[in-house]
Amino acid sequence: MASQQNPLDEEENSKRNWSLKDFEIGKPLGRGKFGRVYVAREIKNKYVVALKVIFKEQIEKYKIHHQLRREMEIQSNLHHPNILRLYGWFHDADRVFLILEYAHNGELYKELRKKGYLSEKQAATYILSLTKALAYCHEKTVIHRDIKPENLLLDHQGRLKIADFGWSVQSSSKRRTMCGTLDYLAPEMVENKAHDYAVDNWTLGILCYEFLYGVPPFEAESQIDTFRRIRNVDLSFPSTPSISSDAKNLISRLLVKDSSRRLSLEKIIEHPWIIKNANPMGICL
Ligand code: ATP
Ligand code: MG
Repeated sequence: MASQQNPLDEEENSKRNWSLKDFEIGKPLGRGKFGRVYVAREIKNKYVVALKVIFKEQIEKYKIHHQLRREMEIQSNLHHPNILRLYGWFHDADRVFLILEYAHNGELYKELRKKGYLSEKQAATYILSLTKALAYCHEKTVIHRDIKPENLLLDHQGRLKIADFGWSVQSSSKRRTMCGTLDYLAPEMVENKAHDYAVDNWTLGILCYEFLYGVPPFEAESQIDTFRRIRNVDLSFPSTPSISSDAKNLISRLLVKDSSRRLSLEKIIEHPWIIKNANPMGICL
């Protein structure tokens, strides 16, 4: 499917020894903790990509060598319409370069902040896209663990793309490390208990709430208060904006303390709110 339209997915290119000479560098797209991202064009195929540049000095300084390797290995093996593709990587004396799929419409976070909150149709379309991408990850025994609006990008058709696999793990057993951003952490992670795939299901509930209300459900003045609210699943639905009872039902069935009782990804896809509101093509402009 993608391989027909996308020259960088073809056999000869996936094994290519890339270098900076293969690209024309364009405008900066953003900067993260460790790197800068530029739009770039692969000269031979004229294919537009995003080039993420990470200085080796930073990799040394923050000892992220293993994390970066893991991120690159996991992401390059994931091929799904809602997961940002990593086509390849190369390095020179000072820098590592990641060749990424270009997401023309940037961060979902910016869209959310600009609009305040999303319509139920838009929110349901993003939740369906995310659910499908996570089902695919879970099939491949990958848990993302750091799904948040900053790590969700939008392509030229408004299709959601999960980026940033820095915190993800490939695992089939229960994990026990602390990671991710506070507001999106599941109770079992806050309490540092063993956790599994169901942490991503919790995060879907958090995101669904944030898409519809503009703020995450357990936001508080201090970290201690956020921790407490997560632990107690202190969930309430404001009266504005007015949200359908179907949406509230889905959120309540995902934000469940007992991870084994959270709605499964298959059930999310069949939930009435998703059926009524989501665009199955994932396109949302
Ligand atoms: P952090 O760890 O703080 O999230 P990072 O080092 O992982 O940062 P990214 O999040 O990958 O960096 O990239 C920084 C910003 O660059 C993103 O927030 C986004 O705005 C932009 N960006 C990154 N990748 C792409 C892409 N493929 N297409 C379009 N814009 C992108
Ligand atoms: Mg990021």
